[in-house]
Amino acid sequence: MFMDEKTINTINKMLPPELEEAKKLIDSLTKLKSNNRLTNLEYLEVKKDVFCSNDKTHHIKKNGHKNGAQRYWCYDCKKSFTITNNTILKYSKLTYHQLKTLLKCMYDYKPLNETALEIGISKTAVFEIEIRIFDALKNINSNHKLKGVIQVDEKYISTSFKGLSEEKMPRISRHNGEDNRISGISNDQVCIIVAIDEYDELLIKVVGNGPASSLMIDQALKNKIESNSTLVTDSKNSYIDFCNKNNLKLIQIPAGKHKIGNYTINDVNEIMTEISNYIFEKRGLSSRHLQHHMNFIRYRKIIKYTIEYLEINEAMYVETILIIPNLKTKDVYSTEMPFDIDEYKKWYSDKYGK
Ligand SMILES: [Zn+2]
Repeated sequence: MFMDEKTINTINKMLPPELEEAKKLIDSLTKLKSNNRLTNLEYLEVKKDVFCSNDKTHHIKKNGHKNGAQRYWCYDCKKSFTITNNTILKYSKLTYHQLKTLLKCMYDYKPLNETALEIGISKTAVFEIEIRIFDALKNINSNHKLKGVIQVDEKYISTSFKGLSEEKMPRISRHNGEDNRISGISNDQVCIIVAIDEYDELLIKVVGNGPASSLMIDQALKNKIESNSTLVTDSKNSYIDFCNKNNLKLIQIPAGKHKIGNYTINDVNEIMTEISNYIFEKRGLSSRHLQHHMNFIRYRKIIKYTIEYLEINEAMYVETILIIPNLKTKDVYSTEMPFDIDEYKKWYSDKYGK
């Protein structure tokens, strides 16, 4: 319920002509506020705990408005700041309706061009804000460790140098989504390690290119799993080392089999399918932003399990306006590749002689 009891009582007491009048007012306000950027700021005023970014305990007071945003004064720092400080709304010109539509499109795995068309902004602008949101989502529930029975598997995605400048490009780009399975797993594939425990706690980590090594498994799972847990994996040797070192029980399901006793890898396979669907719907993703997108798949799964379907868009909206993004717009373009490009180039020229 969004409305408070007092408001409901007031409406209840109105006579029919007053209700008609109120309805007109509400209709016009709904339209006006949906298409206004300032509505986002009104939301912030209601939802945000405001404090000085230097120190939460600093003494602050309200200090007028600037471009529609509530301004504050910190007595300790002797500085003023606005409510949009550090939030995704700081330089955003999106209206309430545009931002909500963006989040709906993200939830529905819409590709950039479709989202851009629905919101009425450029593809570049959609790309930049999406990546900044995805980047910030890594912090959501990130301190939860996986425990109990944990299914782990790897997924391999063809490398894509989309968005990389020409001079850094190691080779002529080929068609997106081409999945070269004939020669097995090569350095031309990016490895993603996915782990899900019996409580639906989920981890999706992009760890490099080529087949999953002990080092890559270590990189993905180290300090993320409670000791004495059980890992259920395929028959890859790289997991044996990791489990011995970290005091974990290991159940390995041989190729061709689906379960051993009650142990399966069905749940982790479901996530793999989700990742495939996502990449397909998005029409291919650049390798450098793969982790960003994986953050979103993980986040989407959390909200899908914890929030009623009809309330998801609103919940995502409130969460988004409150997040503190670490990534500035210009930094979106300097995201590192998840593997060493020079090593990749060497591997590629050795293999193809180019
Ligand atoms: Zn301060």
